[in-house]
Amino acid sequence: MVRNIQKTEGIVIKHIPIGEADRIVSLISPSIGKIRAVARGSRKPKSKMGGHLTPISHVKLSIATTKTIDQITEVETIESFRKIKEDLSLLSKASYMAELAESFVQEENESKQIFYLLLKCLNLLQIVPDTEILIKFFELKLFSLSGFKPEMIICSECGIKLTPSSYKFNFESGGLLCSKCTLEIHSPGEKLSINSIKLIRFIQNENFEKISQLNSTKNLLDEIEIVISKYLKSILDKELKSKPFLDLVAKQTKHSIQSKKIR
Ligand SMILES: [Zn+2]
Repeated sequence: MVRNIQKTEGIVIKHIPIGEADRIVSLISPSIGKIRAVARGSRKPKSKMGGHLTPISHVKLSIATTKTIDQITEVETIESFRKIKEDLSLLSKASYMAELAESFVQEENESKQIFYLLLKCLNLLQIVPDTEILIKFFELKLFSLSGFKPEMIICSECGIKLTPSSYKFNFESGGLLCSKCTLEIHSPGEKLSINSIKLIRFIQNENFEKISQLNSTKNLLDEIEIVISKYLKSILDKELKSKPFLDLVAKQTKHSIQSKKIR
């Protein structure tokens, strides 16, 4: 029995087939957070809904709340992100950002800031030349919005203000450690160079327009990537399904660039 209909917008994260012709679709929306709802008949060739529900689509939809699983009754595409879907490398990055955003959003919980961060980054992914720094921007802003902002100004253990230097990043306390705490803690974490620390602070505080103007960040991004991926694992306590795909595509892209250079 249908109880009420909610209208909202959402970004499709994934879907799984169910029964003969249905799909269960996961989305995130600004007003109701994580949505899991069934799209009845959406796998039938003539379905009006099917084409609008591909992962990484920005849609407008109506959802009927029922006693069992919610049901999508209407859906319309706002932006299909065609350029992303036609490029495996962009798609791997978009899938990773979408899955990551979903991990930090709760059901029936307003998630405006995370929703608009993901939407902004999907739009940027289609136009910016340096997508590596865009991913770091997305991850670090997501941490800040979710209450996991890495502590980069004071020691995350004793609170002493840190002078410019390289420090270890501790995954349990979620930030840098002063040299005294580094000696006292059993597994202090991964080392970050002074320039990587500066870059993380810059990304935390600035908008993407300013960040995209930075030059020669490649080596620093590799160093930051190690810390962020371990920090993420410690927060989520799981490996994201899209991460191996992202790493594989990144590796293949790197390889084909190198062999082009050799030729
Ligand atoms: Zn300390």
